[in-house]
Amino acid sequence: MARVLVTGAGGFIGHHLVTHLKAMGHWVRGVDLKYPEFTDVDADEFEILDLRRREDALVATRGVDHVYALAADMGGMGFISSNHATILRNNSLINLNTIEAARINGVSRYLYSSSACVYPEHLQAEADIAPLKEEDAYPANPQDAYGWEKLISERLCLYYREEFGLETRIVRFHNIYGPCGTYDGGREKVPAALCRKVALAEPGDAIEIWGDGEQTRSFCYIDDCVEGIVRIMESDHAEPLNLGTDRMVTINELARIVIEVSGKRDLTLRHVDGPQGVRGRNSDNSLLRKVLGWEPTTSLEDGIRQTYAWVEKQVRG
Ligand code: NAD
Repeated sequence: MARVLVTGAGGFIGHHLVTHLKAMGHWVRGVDLKYPEFTDVDADEFEILDLRRREDALVATRGVDHVYALAADMGGMGFISSNHATILRNNSLINLNTIEAARINGVSRYLYSSSACVYPEHLQAEADIAPLKEEDAYPANPQDAYGWEKLISERLCLYYREEFGLETRIVRFHNIYGPCGTYDGGREKVPAALCRKVALAEPGDAIEIWGDGEQTRSFCYIDDCVEGIVRIMESDHAEPLNLGTDRMVTINELARIVIEVSGKRDLTLRHVDGPQGVRGRNSDNSLLRKVLGWEPTTSLEDGIRQTYAWVEKQVRG
């Protein structure tokens, strides 16, 4: 079994990944600016460190074989579309420091968590759009600073592998959701936000949707996500790989699934102005299937059922 570091271990995907790696029998250190908000710490060690600082990154990566680099300053569309300089600066510092510290400390494998946000805006201009293949990322034209930074850090991984022999892996997540994630405060993503709005709604209320709700996305359940992350880390594939589902739904359809799961069938939708991100986005899983012989399997209905049950419990206090 390996000695493993998970950065961003106080965050949504990170703390689920720690639990998964522990269940596999690994020794795990978690690092973050904060402890997990909704669960106990599962890691063998958990250290509060700021990876924007070089000294902290060196402490974080000491004595481990593998690093899962998940730390990032991030949030939903509202946050990503209005904090470009902060996101580019913070995430660049985190990733430059973490990979260099990993190299100095002799880490053998390093997985970087990238995003579907790297894909060019013009390939996501229609709601009914072709799924995105890994190679579509170039020529580059991401919508936000968040995506530009992810692209640079992807390249950083590829170059560290080439120049220093650090085995790097790159995963591009497509809208990961599930229980124990941020569901209010401005950084929450659309599945958790919709679950919160529906859970709080009174009979006959209208649920607010940003834009006309016809923008499309695919959504991947957290259990599939952590399984996929570990499979990608263990694979021989060093180039970026999508990790998502290829079932594309509109945000209106997603809202209706949440309403159906909640049993509050008399709720309606009300469309209001708000940031929508790209118009349409889906994951092409051909390469993922070819490389891993695996892809996410949890249905959106099942995943939303689990997520809604958890969010509802939180909002009811
Ligand atoms: P999250 O915000 O819940 O977790 C990120 C964690 O990083 C947070 O706990 C945060 O405190 C920590 N962090 C931020 N700045 C830090 C710093 N300077 N030092 C140490 N820790 C710091 O987000 P998440 O959804 O768990 O995402 C994990 C990774 O996956 C991120 O890199 C994110 O960009 C990427 N990603 C996520 C999604 C998704 O749908 N959730 C999609 C695409 C990419």
